[in-house]
Order: sequence, then C-alpha cells, then structure tokens
Amino acid sequence: MPLVLPEKTRAVAADLRRVLGSEKVLDDVPTLTAYAVDASIYKIVPQAVVLAESEVDIQTAVTYAMRTGVPLTPRAAGTNLTGSAIGSGIILDISRLNRILELNRDERWVRVQPGIVFAELNKRLACHGLLFGPDPSSGDMCKLGGMLANNSSGPHTLRYGSVKDHVQGLRVCLSSGDWLEARRYILDDPALHTVLATHPSLQTVLELVRQQAELIRAKRPTVSKNSCGYKLFGLVYGLDEAVFDLPKLFVGSEGTLGVISEATLRLVDRPTASTTALIHFRFLEDVGDAVPQLLALSPSALEVMDANTLNLIGRDRHGIPSDTAATLLAEFDQDGRPDSLREQATRLTALCHRYRLSSDPVVAFDQGQREQLWKARKALYPTLYRYDSRKKPINYVDDVVVRADRISELIRYLEEFFRAQRIAVAIFGHIGNGNAHIVPLLDVNDREDFARMVESYGDIHQTVLTRFSGSICGEHGDGRVRAEFVRRMFGEELYDLLVQVKRSLDPTGVMNPGVKISDTSFTEHIDYTRLSKACATCGKCNSVCPVYDVFQSEDMSSRGWFEIVTSKEYSYLNSKRVVEACLNCKSCRTICPADVDVSDLILKRRAEHPNRVAGTVFALHARPWLFEPLLKAAAHTQWLWDRPRPRAWLEWITRPLMRRIAETARFPRDMVMPRLATRPLRERYPELVRIGASGPTSVAYFHGCAANYLDDGVGDAVIAVLRRHGVEPALPAQRCSGTPIQTYGHLKLVLEGARHNLASLERYDTVVTGCASCTLMLKDYPQLFEAGPEREAADRLARRVKHIAEFVVESKEAPDQGTGTARTRRVTYHSSCHLRAAGVTNAPRKVLAALPGVEFIEMEDADRCAGGAGTYILKDYDTAAKIFERKRRAIEDSGADVVATSCPACMIQLNNGLRRTVQVKHVAELLRDSYETGQRFRSTDPSSKP
Ligand SMILES: Cc1cc2nc3c(=O)[nH]c(=O)nc-3n(C[C@H](O)[C@H](O)[C@H](O)COP(=O)(O)OP(=O)(O)OC[C@H]3O[C@@H](n4cnc5c(N)ncnc54)[C@H](O)[C@@H]3O)c2cc1C
Ligand code: SF4
Ligand code: SF4
Repeated sequence: MPLVLPEKTRAVAADLRRVLGSEKVLDDVPTLTAYAVDASIYKIVPQAVVLAESEVDIQTAVTYAMRTGVPLTPRAAGTNLTGSAIGSGIILDISRLNRILELNRDERWVRVQPGIVFAELNKRLACHGLLFGPDPSSGDMCKLGGMLANNSSGPHTLRYGSVKDHVQGLRVCLSSGDWLEARRYILDDPALHTVLATHPSLQTVLELVRQQAELIRAKRPTVSKNSCGYKLFGLVYGLDEAVFDLPKLFVGSEGTLGVISEATLRLVDRPTASTTALIHFRFLEDVGDAVPQLLALSPSALEVMDANTLNLIGRDRHGIPSDTAATLLAEFDQDGRPDSLREQATRLTALCHRYRLSSDPVVAFDQGQREQLWKARKALYPTLYRYDSRKKPINYVDDVVVRADRISELIRYLEEFFRAQRIAVAIFGHIGNGNAHIVPLLDVNDREDFARMVESYGDIHQTVLTRFSGSICGEHGDGRVRAEFVRRMFGEELYDLLVQVKRSLDPTGVMNPGVKISDTSFTEHIDYTRLSKACATCGKCNSVCPVYDVFQSEDMSSRGWFEIVTSKEYSYLNSKRVVEACLNCKSCRTICPADVDVSDLILKRRAEHPNRVAGTVFALHARPWLFEPLLKAAAHTQWLWDRPRPRAWLEWITRPLMRRIAETARFPRDMVMPRLATRPLRERYPELVRIGASGPTSVAYFHGCAANYLDDGVGDAVIAVLRRHGVEPALPAQRCSGTPIQTYGHLKLVLEGARHNLASLERYDTVVTGCASCTLMLKDYPQLFEAGPEREAADRLARRVKHIAEFVVESKEAPDQGTGTARTRRVTYHSSCHLRAAGVTNAPRKVLAALPGVEFIEMEDADRCAGGAGTYILKDYDTAAKIFERKRRAIEDSGADVVATSCPACMIQLNNGLRRTVQVKHVAELLRDSYETGQRFRSTDPSSKP
C-alpha cells in the first residue's frame, strides 16, 4: 500500500482555505490542540480541520487529500474509544451536517445527515412514535456518522441489533471524489451495472467477495455481534440473496473507505412503555446460570457490572449492597397488552428469587426512576476517572465478545487474570450479547504498568479468540487500538482480503490511515500527558455546552477547552479567542462524570489576564455612593435613551470601549433592555434594611444586584412570598456575589466581596436567594478559600443558602392560594444553569405544578442554557442569540403562555429572545400572584374564613 507521509509539509490549511473559505478551515493552535484527541488513549496533532457544511465541502477535502497525499480523517463527535477520529493530516468534521432531510412515517424510514446527535434524532422521531433502535451508551453525545462508521450498538442490541441492521442506503464520497449511492442492488439490476461501471473499485470488491465467499463464511465469528474488520460476511450473505448489499461495506469501515454524507435508516415503533430492574447477585456463578433464564423472558436490554466495577464507582453512592458480586440491569419493553410489563416484572422477580441475591430486585416503571437506574451504567467509563489521580481506566481490551452463556466464565477468567497482575479492573457491558467492556486502571507512565498493559493486551485478546471462540471487537471499532490484532482475529488469508478491499477503494491510502487496517503497534501515539490528567475526554460535556451546540466545532467546546487550557502550548494570546468564548454556565460541571470543572479551569486562565474595563466597572459598582446616583440618572432618563435612534447612537459611541471587553462586545441597539429601577430595592424596603442592620430576624434575603437595581419585580415578589410564609426577611448589607466579576478575571475583587458577604450573612440561620447565580456563588464560596477560618465560614454559609423555591417547598406554612383564575394558564419552566449546578432542580417545578389554575408543562431542553449568562448577552450578542434559538423552539413547542424561571439574568435573555410572544415570570412572581389571589378570595368570601 502506498505510504502516506504524515510529516509531509505543505500549507494544507492555506490551500484548503483558498477553496473552502476561512470560516470552514482552521489550523490555529487551540483548534489543532482540541482536535488532537478523541475519547481514546491517543493523541495525534492534525495539520488542518475542515468544518464541512455541504457535500461540496466534503468532496473538496477528499479530492485535495487524494491529490496531495495528505491523510484525511472523517470525524463526528469524537467519542470513539479507539483513536479512529484523530489523524496527522486533515480532520473532516461533519458535525454541521446535522439535519433530518426526509421522514416517511408510514414506511418507517428517515433520511438524515451524519452530524445529528443520536439522542436528538430519537427526540425528533419520538413525536411520530418512531425510534432508531441501536443505542450506544454514549447516545447523548455521539453522532450518526460515527455510529455508522463504527457499526455501533448498545444496551438494546438484544432487541434492535447493531447499526448495520437498520441501514437502507448511504451516500458516500469515495476517495476518487465521486459520489456513490450505496444501497442494496439486485445483481442483475441495470442500475448496479451503471454503479460498477462508474466505480470500478466496487467491481473489484464484488469479484473478491465472490471468489472468496467460502473463506469469508468459514471465518465468520460465531458470536452475536462483531465490529472487527469489514463486513464482508454481510456482503457474502447478500450474494446468497442475489444482492450486492453495499451499505454493509461502508457500515463499520471507520472512515477508511469513504465519507458518508447521508443515510437512510430503517425505524421501529417506539415502545409505549418500558420497565427497568436492578438485580444484585451475591455470587457470580449464579449470574451465569441466570442469564439464559432471563434471556428467555425476552428483555430488550441485559447489562452487567462486576464487583470491581461496583467498588470503583462507589457502592454507597449508588446504594449497592457490600456483598454484591455482580449487578444486572434488565429492561423490558411493552408489547401488545397494557399489563404485559407488570406481568413480566412479576416473572422476573420470581425468577431472581431462585438465586442468592443481596437484596430484592428494584423494579422501576416511572421514566425518571428508570433513568436514575441507567445513569451510573451509562457514565461508567468516565466515572472511573475519579478513582485515582494516577491510575486511569485504559481502553485497550475493552470490547470483547463471547457467547452469552459463557460470559460469567469470561468474567471469572478476567478477574483472576487481573488479580494475579495486581491490577484493579472494571468489567461491565452488554451481558445479553456476551459483550464485555474490560477497563483496567493503570498508570501508563509507570514502566511496570505499561509492561502489564502490553502483556495483557496479547493474552486477553488471544484467550478470547482461542478459548472462547469470540471476537476482539463487539461495537467500539478496531481503530488504532485493535488494528494490529485484526490479522490474528481473522488469519492471514482473510486479513489479506481486507487489505485488498481497502486498496481497491483507497489506492493511495489517504482515508484514515493507521485505523483498522494497519500493523502499527497499539502503543504508538499514546497520550501519556493526558492520561495523567483528570478528564476522560468522553465528550459528555460537549453535549450540554451551549457554545458547542452553536459552533459544532471542537475548538469551541467544553472538552476542547479542557485540552486547550491544560496544554503545555497554552498561552492566553494564542487562545484568547476560545478562552473568552465560554459562558461560565457550568453545565459542563453539572454533567461531568469524572468531576472535572472545565469552567473553573477557564476562569483561572482568565484570572491571569483580568479585563481592565470590566474591572473599572466592578470597582465603581463596589462604591454604591458613586455607582447608584449614576444608575438612578440612567433609570430616570431611560424613557429618553431607550429608543431606537438613541440606542443606535449608544451602540456606536460605546463600541470602542466595549471592544476592550471583547472583540464581539457591544451594547446592541435591538436588545430589549430591562427597566432600571429609579429606586433600588433597598430604598423601597428601608425597614428590612434596618432589621438587616440590627434586628432579630433569622432569615436574610440576599437579593443580589439584578433584583436591587432592576425594576423586574423579582425582589418585591421574593419579599412578598417570604412575608406570606410568616417571615420578615432582613436585607443585610451585601456586595455582588461575585459571578460576573469572576467571569472577567478579577479574583481579588471576588474575594473582597465574598469576605464582606460572609461577615454580613454570618448571623442568619437561613439566607434566601432569588437569583440562580447568587445561589451558586454563595454555595461555592468554600472553593475560594484555603483551609482555615474563612473556609469554615464559607462552608457554614453554603449549608444555609436556600433558593426561594426551596424555601417554599420546605416551609411548614401553606398560605392560601385560592382556586386560580378562570382561565387555566399553561406554564413551562426554564431551568437556569447555575441553579442546576447548585443542585436545585425539583423545587421550582414542584412549586409551579402546585399553583392553582396552572397546567405545568415540562418542556424539551428545559435544562439547556438560554444564552444570556449574565453579561454574556453584551459580550457576544450574536452567539447569545444563536444559543437562544433552541430555547425559543422548545418554549414555542411547549405551547405555554408563561415561561417561568428562577433567575433575573435568565429573564433578561428570555424577554429579549421572546419579545413578548410568551410571558416571562420569576417563580416567586407566580407564587406571589397566587398568594394574592388566595388572600383576595378569603377577604371576599367570608365563608372561607376560619
Ligand atoms: C462513555 C462512552 C460510552 C460508550 N458506549 C458505547 C456503546 O455502548 N456502544 C458503542 O458502540 N460505542 C460506545 N462508545 C463509543 C462511541 O461513542 C461510539 O462508537 C459512537 O458511535 C462514535 O460516534 P462519534 O460520533 O463519536 O464518532 P467519532 O468518534 O467522531 O468517529 C468514529 C469513527 O467514525 C468515522 N466517521 C465519523 N463520521 C463519519 C462519516 N461521516 N463518514 C465516514 N466515517 C465517519 C471516524 O473517522 C471514526 O473512524 C462509547 C464511548 C464513550 C465515551
Ligand atoms: S470534562 Fe468531564 S464530561 Fe467533559 S470530556 Fe472530560 S470527563 Fe468527559
Ligand atoms: S461553562 Fe458552559 S459554555 Fe463554558 S465550557 Fe462549560 S458548558 Fe461550555
């Protein structure tokens, strides 16, 4: 095979930019750093990244690669565990091609682009009662292109099989630059003859498969799933039916044979209901016996976690008994009769009781509870990153498959093997298919551990092949990690055939070299530096990062930013563009299974270069005697300047100053401004300020800046609600909680404010907040201080902070709320990111759902950032608006009249984005209105008085 030289030096990006434009071709340091990794153990720095937005872009990149000999690696979400989405040449990211092109409900198929996230696709299909079946555990983040190219599957393979079983057709750009409609062609169909005449490489493949049909048949692994090598088995079985089944050739080819731009997928009916059971076995041998019995009940999923895995993820944290040797997760889908699930659950429980269990099986029917049961399993691999700062879960033997009835024998063998090597290991996976994920914890920078890794790689794979007649790869793909073993998996003859197939479709070897068909050792390109860091590069945070959602580019993503800000090559100057793009929404921190806080790392980098203009504003703000008169003047004259022409002029005149905050910052003329308060909240409630200074109350209201200086109704509502709960809150002296200040890098000012607030709030039993960011910041104060008295005070405060919704839910008082208005209001909830990060998710929903006259609607994407993020709306108005689009769609689709939230800053963004099409209210405002209705009702209806 011709050699591609990764070192080949030419201005790849410059060349590509000339044809594709500068927006779509990147080669700056942060971009190359972010694209140098995927979720595997490897790192390869590319020469350029192309963000494809059309088939023409794909074709241009492929043709260029072919002409110049620069390797080309297609990439989707980069969540593969094998190093197949990194490469030394061009990375062709197809994430922006993410539309559903056509859906046929009756015939149950969908035509879709490869950049769509699996979970998104299924969300969009759900309203049609349809489902794309194969579901990798990484489904929240992985994209269709990667799933197709890896022949992915997941927990529900038992019912739905792998991706290859659901593909009707593909559009593929071959290395020649020509497009292929890859579908099942009847052998004597004239259309096939045209295809073969246009693409002679396929004629070669067809002949090879015909000639070697017996060899291929003989070498087919006898396990229920296999993603090793190319799917020549599928092609042979196609020929038996007189069909050239072209999708089979490309599914599972890992970007080594062509680039997929479109897929037509077969869909199934979505189950109307499901139930999930968690079963804790005391003895592993019982699991082996139970699996065939459980399979006879036709579960849609059957998963296992071994004892080591349970120890590593923390038994206490997940309520797993100490004597459990293995835990099984079983799921059943409702078929036919409505009561079938209950009956199935009864049969399951009866069956399990034949075995020695640590506790009764937990059976969940409710969607929320079922998701809880799955949560630990789905995030298992990255969770293992918490275990040790040196020993990390290393994916190098992670995807073997044996016959399902031999899985406990396999687990026993593996546990003994690793015990003898003194290596901690997690073994989990799709037991119903005999697919085990084996993840040893090793320090690859330690010579002994490294030697153990190399030895066990050969031993385990060989044992799976010889003793278990299994496969080395069930679903994750061969990538770089298993490529060197593919030859041993299939033997020389069949391997040679695979090489011939690769050569005929990719004669110059530019398509993802080093992946699948390669003799390079699996230890090449290991990222030793990263494997000593805290991040698993799993990409889960990207799935919630609002910036990634908009840009679909790894340099503008949470995972990418982790790589960038922790890289040795990092400098603020070369990375300012990306470091300043984070909203500090904390969604990444909330979701990260490995306990990494990317936003905090970014804030620390910003603190090395505090923004001067923002610093001046915050210094002014810290001097109320100077700041407040200026703000009042602005409030009194708002009617004058908050109009189209003066706003245009204001935008223009403030532009030079705003630029010094960020290149994109401006005071946008069309933004709906919140009304400034002519009298701040503290002036309106002098009696509460007074008791804040000296009074006996035990409850303080930390109003924050927005409720004090904006006329948004939030402060009045919180006070009114507290009063209705029998509390006269104090308004103690307070400074900005610090969130916006921290965002611009002024750590010293944050500390000053925090110390002031700690002293001022110390004497209150409860500190109520109405703002999501203040809630989180006050709870996060302990992170600002070293161990000592200040940290202790911060810890004490963190325990006493309560958002108003939490306060109400926990209150013993139940003020009368009347019976609601004549018309039922449909209310949905936008869950502010900082409140979720503070762990407050249920209380606001409970409050809203209990309001009389309110129909509470849970909207899609309630947990996604709305894009305001305090002052981000000014820092990058255009990106903030793009982020909001998704929220707008969700609100509109919910059909709500009112969108409620728990944060004054989010209200600004919601008001600006919705422009009064839907009413925006703080939870406290809706509560206050409801209490007032209750009070009016009581005073006009004497019979209701006690
Ligand atoms: C926590 C975790 C759990 C996981 N669980 C599972 C699981 O249960 N089952 C499973 O199968 N996998 C699992 N994986 C692995 C991985 O997520 C899946 O294989 C996934 O389908 C890869 O999709 P991706 O979008 O991330 O692809 P990428 O990683 O971007 O790419 C994967 C391969 O696809 C190729 N590719 C991408 N797009 C195209 C295209 N348009 N044309 C041609 N080639 C293309 C790439 O070159 C590469 O070879 C898991 C990973 C993690 C981190
Ligand atoms: S920060 Fe966390 S969620 Fe994000 S890639 Fe790293 S481990 Fe995964
Ligand atoms: S804080 Fe928000 S914007 Fe920043 S990296 Fe995390 S998820 Fe992305």
